[in-house]
Amino acid sequence: MSGEAIITGLTVPQGDGLACVVCGADYLRVRVPHVPVGRSVTGSQVFACVGCRRDDVRRAAGGVLR
Ligand SMILES: [Zn+2]
Repeated sequence: MSGEAIITGLTVPQGDGLACVVCGADYLRVRVPHVPVGRSVTGSQVFACVGCRRDDVRRAAGGVLR
């Protein structure tokens, strides 16, 4: 599976991969494990906290989540 989800409607930090796309946690301020969940419309990799997206992330990320 090579497809990556394109996630739209993100804030700037979310789109830059600096904040959770689900809860908006600021990864520059909050140390929380996070996993790639797809890409923004600009092609940047975006992330969600492991607690925010679990099985959904595993599917979206093609099994990258551990
Ligand atoms: Zn989150």
